[in-house]
Amino acid sequence: MLNLALERLRATFGYDQFRPPQDQVIDNLLQGGDALVLMPTGGGKSLCYQLPALIREGTALVVSPLIALMQDQVQALSQLGIRAAYLNSTLDPEAARGVEDSLLNGELELLYIAPERLLQPRTLGMLSSVKLSLFAIDEAHCVSQWGHDFRPEYLKLSVLHEQFPQVPRIALTATADQRTREEIIRRLALEQAAVFVQGFDRPNIRYRIAQKQSARQQLKKFLQTEHPNDAGIVYCLSRKKVEETAAFLCAEGWQALPYHAGLPAETRAQHQHRFLTEEGVIVVATIAFGMGIDKPNVRFVAHLDLPKSIEAYYQETGRAGRDGEPADAWMVYGLQDVIFLRQMLESSDAEELQKQVERQRLEAMLGLCEVTSCRRQALLSYFGEQDHQPCGNCDTCLEPVETWDGTEAARKALSTVYRSGQRFGVSHVIDILIGKQTEKISQYRHQQLSTFGIGAELNVQEWRSLFRQLVAHGLLDVDHDNYGALRLSERCRPVLRGEQQLQLRKDKRAARAVESRKVR
Ligand code: ADP
Ligand code: ZN
Repeated sequence: MLNLALERLRATFGYDQFRPPQDQVIDNLLQGGDALVLMPTGGGKSLCYQLPALIREGTALVVSPLIALMQDQVQALSQLGIRAAYLNSTLDPEAARGVEDSLLNGELELLYIAPERLLQPRTLGMLSSVKLSLFAIDEAHCVSQWGHDFRPEYLKLSVLHEQFPQVPRIALTATADQRTREEIIRRLALEQAAVFVQGFDRPNIRYRIAQKQSARQQLKKFLQTEHPNDAGIVYCLSRKKVEETAAFLCAEGWQALPYHAGLPAETRAQHQHRFLTEEGVIVVATIAFGMGIDKPNVRFVAHLDLPKSIEAYYQETGRAGRDGEPADAWMVYGLQDVIFLRQMLESSDAEELQKQVERQRLEAMLGLCEVTSCRRQALLSYFGEQDHQPCGNCDTCLEPVETWDGTEAARKALSTVYRSGQRFGVSHVIDILIGKQTEKISQYRHQQLSTFGIGAELNVQEWRSLFRQLVAHGLLDVDHDNYGALRLSERCRPVLRGEQQLQLRKDKRAARAVESRKVR
């Protein structure tokens, strides 16, 4: 069977060999078994069902929630001479009828279908008179209520197994944490399925997360010293910042092109094309850029803003170094990022359950930023891979992070937030701590607070670093109704009561400030 598969791989898709574990997955399906496939984005999941679809008799049904991607996939398959079509709400009735006719006539090797369409009794009825080769359930994590992509219709997909027990099923996802995995198995009744996990590790990517001082200058220095002529992607959160950063890089002599959803379609297409075909082009983009981008020699991905989750970070950084050559995932992040994302999350009109999920995701991302042990270990353990050794190829491995006992300083900071009424932002609270005389201090008579000036042993940088870590660890909340005022959270109590010690990161810049003061 596998020889046949390899032949088709070469003849139809033009690839020399399978990427693990494609061959095993395909073998399993060809023998009629169910499969659950966990592979990172870009790993090559599609082939796992596309190839068996060509070899097994009948039509393969591919359930996908991403309508935009269906069209791309079908187009790509058609160009390879494969008979594929899709059924979703974008088709007019006539076109849909045409597709249904080809399906009923057994003319399709693959049919992509949106879940809500598939679940219509009419569609299910039609399928019972069609020879089916397999069901592929793409983006299978959509059955998880805890996931970022929950789709209620996915829960009903277990009907496929009930109605067509003899048709093998393959579920695929790039989300591999243990909880999601178990939920997929349970909800789709895949207890008998063989599970294939392709590791998430990308050993050629060097992960680095530095403290943000002046993001653009830091980026400039990074590019100058490490990637003067390389292609890469710079991610920013807002369109405005994308434009400004691209302009800045151009003024500094790089070929930098902006990319975001607010640009005309032709401009985006043109910028994407130049990135793919020319040498050394940098794209400065919002997250709108990257879906389906498959450029092997992207040498760096830089983040000037913090992504909202580790999944997003992994996916975005994963666009670097597809060719296996060394590549950089470089990010700067600071207190304002934490405050901004927390505020954005809390002030959104998402439902509470959704917010709770997003809070957890952001927390995990902040945890990765603040981690003092190997970053790769932390990243992989988030995806359920617990048994990696320190990698030797991330910033924390290459330059071990110094920590310091921040318990006392944290107590001073927390008391100051409390005593000033939990109504002020970081800058003002720091002014109180270091005993700075400002207009605002006099206006609120904060020089009379017992904590005024009790923190003179640290400088502003060091206090900012401490506050960032307090917010990142959830000891302080950010009041989104009140311009980012800091408030104590439940979690800070053990620290205030002296029951919990706080080991904090000594940030490079802040550490240097301490050193130079000592010298003086
Ligand atoms: P995923 O769905 O896991 O994100 P895709 O199925 O879109 O990944 O595949 C990612 C890229 O890898 C595509 O460009 C695909 O053509 C390519 N690819 C997949 N399998 C192979 C292979 N065996 N050899 C070479 N390239 C492959
Ligand atoms: Zn490491």
